Amino acid sequence: MIGLIGGMSWESTVEYYRIMNELVKEKLGGWNSAEIILYSVNFEEIVRMQRAGEWGKLGEILGDIAVKLEEAGAKAVLICTNTMHKVADDVERRISIPLINIIDVTAEALKRDGVKRAGLLGTKFTMEDGFYQERMKRHGIEIIVPEKEEDRDAVHSIIFDELCLGIIKEESERRLRRIVSELKSAGAEGIILGCTELPLILKDPEFYDTTKLHAEAAVNFLLNG
Ligand code: GLU
Repeated sequence: MIGLIGGMSWESTVEYYRIMNELVKEKLGGWNSAEIILYSVNFEEIVRMQRAGEWGKLGEILGDIAVKLEEAGAKAVLICTNTMHKVADDVERRISIPLINIIDVTAEALKRDGVKRAGLLGTKFTMEDGFYQERMKRHGIEIIVPEKEEDRDAVHSIIFDELCLGIIKEESERRLRRIVSELKSAGAEGIILGCTELPLILKDPEFYDTTKLHAEAAVNFLLNG
């Protein structure tokens, strides 16, 4: 059984649920489906604390949830958002089961393809705070982010003000695609959709879809331990 800390936002958590169940069905057939315990938060409260910079408190809240999931029988835990991996170490410290880290899982996929320099799209926390870069560096991968602040602001706002609210706009897709091509011109050998809602608007298989990679890693753990 896998524990998911979700609801950040629920628009992407439903994708985890769908992908995990589809994969288990594909691999085992019949009526097989994924054994999951989902703890879905009220995202409004999380967003408020992110904006106030209350990361210590956020680490404690997610840590409390992880403990509950372990107590409920989960054998591994996933935090279903890239941004909240800023506090992944605080959460991991609280539990004795593995935390399947979205950055490590993404790094493994990049390494399999020989990508050494990757472009990252995500929230401003993910692109600017350094935790993503630092963890990727441990895997020997260099991260580049959109050079212009207005582009990073645009990606952030498309995530929070549109995708997390279930809004998908063609003009936003065009803007994201322009930013992607600039990242490629700047030397990115691969593009990380480093926000679990971005695959709702950018669906090209060439992109590193962190939601799919993370959900696949969870199923791999479920089936192979
Ligand atoms: N789901 C998003 C991510 O993967 C953003 C929402 C959040 O702030 O957690 O980063």
